[in-house]
Amino acid sequence: MMSKIKKEVEDGMKLIWKKVDPKDLKLGDHIYAYKRYGSYSHHGIYVGDGYVIHFTRTETKEAILPHSRVEAETVPACPKCGYQENTGRGVIKTCLDCFRRGRKKLHSIHYFTYGAPQIGFLLKNSGTCSTLSCTRSPEQVVEVANELLGSNEFGKYDLTGNNCEHFATYCQTGVCASVQTALYDTCLKKYRELKNRP
Ligand SMILES: [Zn+2]
Repeated sequence: MMSKIKKEVEDGMKLIWKKVDPKDLKLGDHIYAYKRYGSYSHHGIYVGDGYVIHFTRTETKEAILPHSRVEAETVPACPKCGYQENTGRGVIKTCLDCFRRGRKKLHSIHYFTYGAPQIGFLLKNSGTCSTLSCTRSPEQVVEVANELLGSNEFGKYDLTGNNCEHFATYCQTGVCASVQTALYDTCLKKYRELKNRP
């Protein structure tokens, strides 16, 4: 029994640290990259030829931060894929570098894991794996991602209710779920409960 638990713990730890060489990426892979000093993970579906389909804010940064000094036109468009930061576009297709770029550096890429073992899953950081299983073929995953590309069908971006993890998980499983925000919601609920305690 102990050795089984030990193995699940080790598997969980391996999942956390495993980085992916972009050369090893395959069609339909659900990948993520940590952004903002590891505070959240950005998710997408690898669709081949160095491109990723992912869900970004549907509003522009200026709409969210009206007094932002960052002007959309001051950020040059990517010469490879044409992506321009600070423009809200919903479901977009960009090159891998734009997907993984943080403020000044390219973040490492990780595989999102489906069917994760329960113990390993609990030990892992949220937003990196799910106990859901992926039943779609890679071709089907890419097809769903392409269908949603450029359409408003996936709806409005919402940090906790409809984000990049929901999008990629939906492409893979048909279920719209985000462990990252589910945990956040649970913590927020708990915090409010404690705060409202007489
Ligand atoms: Zn690009």
